[in-house]
Amino acid sequence: VREEIDLKSFIRHIPDFPKPGILFYDISTLMRNPDAWQMAMGRLARQIAPLRPDVLAAVESRGFLTAAPLADRLGCGMLMLRKRGKLPGRTVSHTYDLEYGSDTLEIQEDAVLPGQRVVIMDDLLATGGTLAASATLLRKAGANVVGASVLMELTGLGGRARMDGVPVTTLMSYE
Ligand code: IMP
Repeated sequence: VREEIDLKSFIRHIPDFPKPGILFYDISTLMRNPDAWQMAMGRLARQIAPLRPDVLAAVESRGFLTAAPLADRLGCGMLMLRKRGKLPGRTVSHTYDLEYGSDTLEIQEDAVLPGQRVVIMDDLLATGGTLAASATLLRKAGANVVGASVLMELTGLGGRARMDGVPVTTLMSYE
């Protein structure tokens, strides 16, 4: 619990970003402190290692920041889930609803081998729309989604319940 309190003190809260009324949880202040960032990566590694991933799936764009060091630490591969039109070659896509409008995530068609154990990584879980869409897309591509990992979870929005039993780990929880 103490460690959690320490990490939270490095998160900056920015009101009215990106829209009026939204409180943004900013990891820039965590990343720029070498000790805090190293502690965060170490704790992430301990949470994710028991899931025995073959591949970490990084959600654009802040998921890239944690998946790359974690793939290196755990000795597994990584792949990118990107916004529409960014990935070269043949892709599989999935469009999902947002609060206002919709968004599309893509994966390279050959990014995973059938049945590979995949853990999804992003910075923050809010409504769960992004992680749930990521899981759907990965399954379309043949993955066995064994977990999802975030730095921060906003627990009041029910995001975890949208993951159909896929375990979600977090370093920091906020009501
Ligand atoms: P969800 O799809 O509603 O769970 O929202 C999570 C997605 O929105 C993630 O990809 C986050 O990067 C992004 N997001 C939402 N709110 C925040 C925030 O306060 N800080 C950083 N990212 C956020």
